[in-house]
Order: sequence, then C-alpha cells, then structure tokens
Amino acid sequence: MPGDPPELPAKDLLTLIPEYAGLARQTTLLNPEPGDPGVRESSLGGRPLWPAGEPWPYCAQEDHWTYGSDPRNTTEIVPGAVPMVPILQLFARDVPELEFPEGKDLLQLVWCALIHERDPRLVMPRLYWRNEADVVAGGLLPEIPGVSEGEYDEDNMPEPSTLSPTIAEDFPRWLDLPKDMWETWEPRFRSRTGGLTVPPDSNVIATKTGGWPAWTQPADWPNCASGHRMEHLLTITGDIQLGDCGGVYFFHCHRCPGLPWDWRFDCH
Ligand SMILES: [Zn+2]
Ligand SMILES: [Zn+2]
Repeated sequence: MPGDPPELPAKDLLTLIPEYAGLARQTTLLNPEPGDPGVRESSLGGRPLWPAGEPWPYCAQEDHWTYGSDPRNTTEIVPGAVPMVPILQLFARDVPELEFPEGKDLLQLVWCALIHERDPRLVMPRLYWRNEADVVAGGLLPEIPGVSEGEYDEDNMPEPSTLSPTIAEDFPRWLDLPKDMWETWEPRFRSRTGGLTVPPDSNVIATKTGGWPAWTQPADWPNCASGHRMEHLLTITGDIQLGDCGGVYFFHCHRCPGLPWDWRFDCH
C-alpha cells in the first residue's frame, strides 16, 4: 500500500541469510560476578598466581606519577613507573575450548590502569602463558604491589570478580563479514528490508574467549609479523568501564612459533 513505512528489518540474521549459520563459532562467556576469587581460581581483577622468581610488571610511560615505593609517603607524588593491575586469570580447566600452548594451562593478563595521554594506545596490556604446577612448585610472589588511589583511572580497574564460564554460540558482527559475503548478501538485505537497514546480528557482546570479537566499531583484525590474520583469543568489554571505549580485544597466531599476540581497542 502506498505510504506504508518500509518493512522492519528481520530480528534474526539467520532467517534472512541462512548462510550466516555457517559462521557460528563456539565462545566461552566468562560471566564475572563481584566476589573474592582465590589465587588458584579463574578471575577478573583477582589476585593472580604469580611466580616468586618474576618481578611484578610496571608501566614506565613517561607521563606517570607515583607515590614511590616508600609506603609512608602518601602525599608527595613523583614521576615514575606504576604497577600494572591484574585483569584476567584463566585456568585451562575453566575454559576447555581455549587452546593453550603446549605445556601451559594458565593465561594471565595485566594492564596499566592509568591514562596514556601521550600514547594513543590505551592500556598497554601484557599477556602471560604459564604452567600452574610449575608456578606453585617455585613459590608465589609474596606481594602484588597495589596502585594507590589517585594514581589510576578508575574506568580501567576491574572489581575483583569470580567467573562462571558458559559455552554459547557466537556469530560475527555485521561489519566483520568477509567482503565477498557482503557483496552477495547486501542485495538480499536491500530487497527484503526495503532499504539498506542492517538487521541486528547475533554477535555476543560480553567478556569472553574464542568466538568472534565483540567489536563496537568496524572490525580491525591484526596480522602477525608473517602476515597471517590472527585468531580472536578474548574480548574484555562491559565488565570494566574502559572510559568511552567499547572493549579490548586480544588475538594470537597459532601458525607461528611462540604464539605471537596482539590487541586492539575501539572507542566511540
Ligand atoms: Zn601506563
Ligand atoms: Zn603467524
């Protein structure tokens, strides 16, 4: 009928474009809940199982200020490196779908909770693969240095949380589809939705491992130094505020020795 509004977009890409189902991948949603995770439990923002023989990492960006190493000093701040903060610790037993490097069963992630105004890169993360039994046998670092209040950007600090991983099916963001798919799908969208309106996709926006990145901006997959497109390792989003950023995304290359990794973030 003339004057009718254009047909509403389909609620589900799967009904509109059945081939979308072929892109399903398994993801593990980490489902963090504020709590008191133990050092030998998977956690977001919990105390990590850290080897005694390895110094805690610091961020030495030149615009950082700190109260220094003297705990009696709570007033005078000086330029200096600040301790990184624990972000994520995952034991292989909790994320069975995640492929660990041979001999490793513990993944740890730390980053800097300060703003890096002179460096556009957000949180300067570091990623570690370890063997739980080796760490325990060698003893634990007795103290993880904390960042003092006022030293960090609250948005980049997770509340200590336990994890309750669950498996789910995950699909790519609309903007993450291969170009040839877009070229064949786009006319079908156009004819079935009465315009170019893109229906909601079935990507799970959550802190998760595997599956597809939960980009909030156009996809930006990294390549390793040998030119391989890396695989999505994990997404951190929502459970930490991250200022006006959507998420932090980690990738790795299984085809290269040493499992090179990289990361991306997206901001509005
Ligand atoms: Zn920093
Ligand atoms: Zn590679």
